[in-house]
This record gives sequence, C-alpha cells and structure tokens, in this order.
Amino acid sequence: MNLKIGVIKGDGIGPEIVAEAMKVLDKTAEKYGHSIEYIQLLMGGASIDVHGVPLTDETIEEAKKCGAVLMGSIGGDAKNSPWYKLEPSKRPEAGLLKIRKALNLFANLRPAVLYDELKGACPLKEEITEGGFDMLIMRELTGGLYFGERKTVEENGVLTAYDSLTYNENEIRRIAKRGFDIAMKRRKKVTSVDKANVLDSSRLWRKVVEETAAQYPEVTLEHMLVDNCAMQLVKDPKQFDVILTENMFGDILSDEASMVTGSIGMLASASLNETKFGLYEPSGGSAPDIAGQGIANPIATILSAAMMLRYSFDLDREADAIEAAVEKVLKDGWRTGDIMSDGKEKTGTAGMGDLIAANI
Ligand code: NAD
Repeated sequence: MNLKIGVIKGDGIGPEIVAEAMKVLDKTAEKYGHSIEYIQLLMGGASIDVHGVPLTDETIEEAKKCGAVLMGSIGGDAKNSPWYKLEPSKRPEAGLLKIRKALNLFANLRPAVLYDELKGACPLKEEITEGGFDMLIMRELTGGLYFGERKTVEENGVLTAYDSLTYNENEIRRIAKRGFDIAMKRRKKVTSVDKANVLDSSRLWRKVVEETAAQYPEVTLEHMLVDNCAMQLVKDPKQFDVILTENMFGDILSDEASMVTGSIGMLASASLNETKFGLYEPSGGSAPDIAGQGIANPIATILSAAMMLRYSFDLDREADAIEAAVEKVLKDGWRTGDIMSDGKEKTGTAGMGDLIAANI
C-alpha cells in the first residue's frame, strides 16, 4: 500500500518528536511492504514565520489530498515569543482551530493507557491500577456549548451571561457511529456519558446513541451520568473501553483520564471526520521549556502514528506492531527523563525512537 501522509512538524519539541515517529513509520513500512510519501505542511508558529499566518488555505488544500496528517505540537512560550504579540486570530493555536473546522474534524479520540511498567507515575492506589488500564475517550469536537450562541447583556442593571448547548440528531449520530466503529476494533464496550437526568440535549444524545447501538449487536452499551463518570475514572478506570461523550464533558473527562495515567509524554490523540481522514498528534503541547535539548518523550507521537495506521489506513497489524514495540522497550527498562524512575535506563528523544524502531 502507498500511504500519503501530511506532516506538520510544528513548533518547540514538534520537529524532534515527529522525526522519531517518521523513523518508526519508515521501519514499519519497510517490514510490512508499504511505501510512504510524506508531504511537508506548515502550521502554527512555523507558518507565521514564513507566511505571516498560522495556516494558509493552500496548506489546507494540500492536507486534503493526504490520507492522514501527522502533527507535532504547535505554539510557543506565550510570555516571550513574538507570535503572541499578534492578535488572537493570527497566533499559532488559531491554525489548529482553522484546520479542525476546514477538515470537519468532529471526532476527537484520546486514549488513556496505563502501562503496567509505568504504574509508578499513576497517582491512584496500586490496588486500583494493578494490571494497568486502557480506555479511549471519544469526544464530539465541533458542537455543543463551545459552539452555541453566547451573549452577555445587562438586565435591570445586572450583567447576565448566556451560553447555549445545542446538538441536532445528525451531529450525535455521526459521532455515535464513529464511537461504535472504534469499539468494534477494541474490547466492544461503549460507555455513553451524558446528563440525561437534567439536560434535553443529553436526552436526545441518549436516544440517538441507543438507536445507533442497535446496528452494533456485538457492542455492549451502557449509559453513565457525567458526575458519576468523573468519580468512576479514579475509582475503577479498568471498567472503561470507549467513553463516548459530548464536547464539554469530553474536554473535562479526557484531561482527568490523562492525569490518571501520570505521563503526558505517553498520550496520543486523533481527530477524525466522516471519511477515513484524520489528524494525529500527541496530547501534550510544544513544551518550549525543553525544546532543542533532545530530551522530549516521542512515545505519544509514535503512538499517534500507530493510531493513524489503524484508523485512517486500516493497517491494524502494523499499528499493533508499533504498540507492541513501545511496550517491549518500556519492559526492557528504557525511559526518557519525564517517565524516569529508579533502576531504569535513561535515553533521549532519538535514542527512544531508535529503540522502538529496532523492535518493530
Ligand atoms: P505542554 O504540554 O507543552 O508542557 C507542559 C509540561 O509537560 C512541560 O513541563 C513540558 O516540558 C512537559 N512535556 C510536554 N510534552 C512532553 C514530552 N513529549 N516529553 C517530555 N515532557 C513533555 O503545555 P504548555 O507548557 O501549557 O504549553 C506550551 C505550548 O504548547 C503553548 O504554546 C500551548 O498553546 C501549546 N499547546 C499546543 C497544543 C497542540 O498543539 N495541540 C496542545 C497544548 C498546548
């Protein structure tokens, strides 16, 4: 298979961690008989430096011609970088919002995996995390409270603010379908999270999710109220496979889920549209504090590349090979500085990439 992959190296540690993901992709392609064509795309600060804007329309058109885009993080040090003297719509992060909108990336996937080898980094009690956990949060990304009408008005001399939370059944159906499709590639369980005891939007969410579930008889569906879910994530994270939820609940729960793994440098993410196209990137930022030092953890980006193979190119076997190589390197005791613990071997960004590539 020939894979056409857009690459946004990004800012800060972005170019360093993306280089390691490409190294691992190249090794995987070589081993399984694929060829990869990389298309370099500029976004964020790197695009501002060249074009004066964080994302050009031409770059979006180039991205659309690729099967998927792999991205390092974008953005810089908000206090010192000249990018942050620009108006908000011209800053690096505006590129991210623009590309999500232009490519209709409505489904955000964030796996939260606790590897048994890294359980020391997890803030939860050992009896809760024994054996590790592996869940995936599927968050609706383009609707709900963050995109509804808002205003602040003065009523009888009192300032009053309004935000509206709107979902139509089509928006719910397409994310639900995505959630069930992905559960079929995993342990076949969906926990749909809402606040159906209070919100109309949640009651419609629940109805449409149930209708969608009827098309996936192999998948077990359960409903959970969002406040209970926030509790269950720290009480018994092992119970979850796919958590399917709306925009704001997903925003909060995915940060909580990443925190319980304890290591931001390990967490991949993907944003998908209705086709197979997706944008794959680490969950963390561009870490300007450690950029250029060769010490950033590339594993989140490497695991994002594995997600890309699985969800955009349907190469499950190749994705499994990358994930298994990461686990093997961790089992062998290799660590970057952010996940270092006593008695383990320390390596840098390139060293970690080499080790993972060698284990494919
Ligand atoms: P950050 O995630 O970049 O850094 C937080 C801490 O985690 C830092 O101490 C950093 O060194 C560490 N860290 C992050 N990734 C790491 C890795 N791979 N290996 C080792 N350590 C790692 O968050 P921040 O400092 O709040 O933001 C920095 C910049 O990143 C800002 O400009 C912000 O807007 C941007 N950002 C971009 C994205 C994105 O591109 N999607 C997401 C979040 C933040």
